[in-house]
Amino acid sequence: MTLAEPTTSLRGDLAVRAATVRYGGLTALDAFDLRVRGGSITGVIGPNGSGKSTLINIVAGITPVDSGSVVFEGADVTGLTVPKRASIGIARTFQAIRLFDSMSVLENVLIGATRNYRSSLAASVFRTPRLKKDDEVQRELAMEILASFGNRLLPRLSHPVGTLSYANRRRVEITRAFMLQPSLLLLDEPMAGMNPHESWELAEQLPGLLRDRDCSALIVEHKMDIITHLCSDVYVLDHGVEIAHGSPRDVVKDPAVEEAFLGIE
Ligand code: ADP
Ligand code: MG
Repeated sequence: MTLAEPTTSLRGDLAVRAATVRYGGLTALDAFDLRVRGGSITGVIGPNGSGKSTLINIVAGITPVDSGSVVFEGADVTGLTVPKRASIGIARTFQAIRLFDSMSVLENVLIGATRNYRSSLAASVFRTPRLKKDDEVQRELAMEILASFGNRLLPRLSHPVGTLSYANRRRVEITRAFMLQPSLLLLDEPMAGMNPHESWELAEQLPGLLRDRDCSALIVEHKMDIITHLCSDVYVLDHGVEIAHGSPRDVVKDPAVEEAFLGIE
């Protein structure tokens, strides 16, 4: 007997099952199902207030579900805290960037590496060789990811993040998320506030970054042409329910999608 090769990898695989989130009388997500296959980039679009950030937040663990479940790499993670989910490989960026403005680019990025340290607290007090080795490894990883953005961040490693352009702050946030060495990256409108040139630059860099790190992604994005470029699979949300799902080409042709977006773009 030979062992069969697994046809699909569980790494980075996400399943949201019948997830419902209520805020008082408002149902932000209504029995919503979604699947992100390992290694894929899956997109979510929908009008403002349709539940996109709520979806990202239930996967990251910030928002609890009222019913339903979140299954990551085959395990039910619905009850796990945000740090616990981060420690098993779920990283995210925020719709409104969250960085330490007075700290440098490199400092902000290295904060994301905390979970990769094998050293103990005592080691950090006494600066043991193992800690120095950890520092070195993390710094190398940081430089590698920062270099993926060409010359956008490398010349600015010591600049306070608050002095950077919006697009560069977004790049710092993405780098910090990758420092967690995630297998799933959640991106909530990463191109919001970027001009078309910057948006496309990021759209062209993301697939390679994700592939090199064996990471899948769930991306919320308004620009349909960018979703079409990045994603094999797209979900369209409206008022917390799926109104369309499929390839980008198919969902844009869907009359329900046209109606939901009428007067929006
Ligand atoms: P999107 O990201 O698609 O714009 P959200 O997921 O942020 O939508 O919000 C979905 C709905 O839930 C909106 O009507 C929003 O006002 C509401 N909502 C989101 N967060 C909260 C909250 N913490 N308390 C109350 N209502 C909320
Ligand atoms: Mg949102």
